[in-house]
Amino acid sequence: MRYISTRGNSPVLPFEETMLTGLAPDGGLYVPETIPQLSADTIAAMAGQSYEDIAFTVMWPFIGDTFTEDEFRALIANAYQGFGHISRAPLKQVGDNQWLCELFHGPTLAFKDFAMQLIGQMFAHVLKRRGESITIVGATSGDTGSAAIEAFKGLANVDVCILYPHGRVSDVQRRQMTTPTEANVHALAVDGTFDDCQRHLKDMFADHAFRDEVRLAAVNSINWARVMAQVVYYFTAATSLGAPGRPVSFTVPTGNFGDIFAGFIAKEMGLPIDRLVIATNQNDILHRCMTSGAYAKSGVKPSISPSMDIEVSSNFERALFWAHDKDGTAVAALMDDLKAGAFHVSDNAMAALRATYDSGMADEATTSATITKTLKTSAELVCPHTAVGLHVAAEQAQPATPMITLATAHPAKFPAAVKEATGIHPPLPARMADLFERPERVTRVANDLGQLQTTIRGMRAS
Ligand SMILES: *Cc1c(COP(=O)(O)O)cnc(C)c1O
Repeated sequence: MRYISTRGNSPVLPFEETMLTGLAPDGGLYVPETIPQLSADTIAAMAGQSYEDIAFTVMWPFIGDTFTEDEFRALIANAYQGFGHISRAPLKQVGDNQWLCELFHGPTLAFKDFAMQLIGQMFAHVLKRRGESITIVGATSGDTGSAAIEAFKGLANVDVCILYPHGRVSDVQRRQMTTPTEANVHALAVDGTFDDCQRHLKDMFADHAFRDEVRLAAVNSINWARVMAQVVYYFTAATSLGAPGRPVSFTVPTGNFGDIFAGFIAKEMGLPIDRLVIATNQNDILHRCMTSGAYAKSGVKPSISPSMDIEVSSNFERALFWAHDKDGTAVAALMDDLKAGAFHVSDNAMAALRATYDSGMADEATTSATITKTLKTSAELVCPHTAVGLHVAAEQAQPATPMITLATAHPAKFPAAVKEATGIHPPLPARMADLFERPERVTRVANDLGQLQTTIRGMRAS
């Protein structure tokens, strides 16, 4: 399997280099040159198989010769053994032909664990073989940082340093980053905003001397390996409900478009997905684009579903690449326009997008009301991101086709919004009930690139 850039102007890479590189040198995102196909028989055989077995079947065609079959099976087993549910991504019925796919049974209670846990295993294996070590540096507004820490803690040849804005993440999110005891984990509380953290991160990557000195690496949401790992649960969910014998639809609470784009890959591989529905919160740039063809920034408004408070939806570029018949030059032109604040999608490309995706949005009051209503009608406490999805799913549902909404986080991760809507403070799962008793370890750093670099150098040496 070979990987090409969505902007058409980067070297073609095998899986291993694609995973280690992340962003393509031309600024584009790596995608598979061709999408592997699974036959209806192969898909039918998944019914009743374990998550791990289905994961192997779905991902193996993307891997090339990076791992042997046995090695890859072992990495998958390690990645998901710490999940709190034997099915990994269980389904729950919440209405007539309406389902939730619970993606929050991983160590940090959000769906990002599915990709990050596997990436941790794959990175560690490859680095050991190559005799290399790296420093993973990430900036987080909450969920990604803890998922990266849980994935890389205790692994050889890796240090993981996560920058977060001091005082601006929830208590649960902070404690998930500051309580792991492994020596290769470093939480850095920056005296600034999330945007400051992201800017410092970009500047560190642009500082080539520093980048090479600490062997800087990133595992952000544009890494192809993250998308690949997310394809799996579309197969487990759909085959549980009768695919390939009948089609199913998915609604996906969307920010950076990584999770829903994995659904597109599943569909292209042969899974009969009828509709893929983009669900946005009040930051509805994707819904506006699907409606009008204009992708135009208007400023991010903080919401109760903060992991979707995004205006530059990076993985949407991958969808645009297919909508433009894989014309990298056309995609590069759109991304150039975006620097000035907006781009316009042609009628042909919009028709291609609409052939796969629908869209909808839930404002703040609707999100909260959906949390309240879901508790009443199906006795489920849902997180605000999931509630956005459920509202849009109900709008778009076709009675004959199962509609599966991805439940992207555990309600206990966003207790304030859940309590406000239901009066109930959602408890943490038993396996992490002592999170608030565990000692915290964090390094407070000034909002300054030079001081951050000095701190990271010192952490790596230790
Ligand atoms: C990251 C995240 C999302 C958005 O996922 P994308 O892949 O960025 O579209 C939705 N919900 C939760 C809880 C998240 O952490």
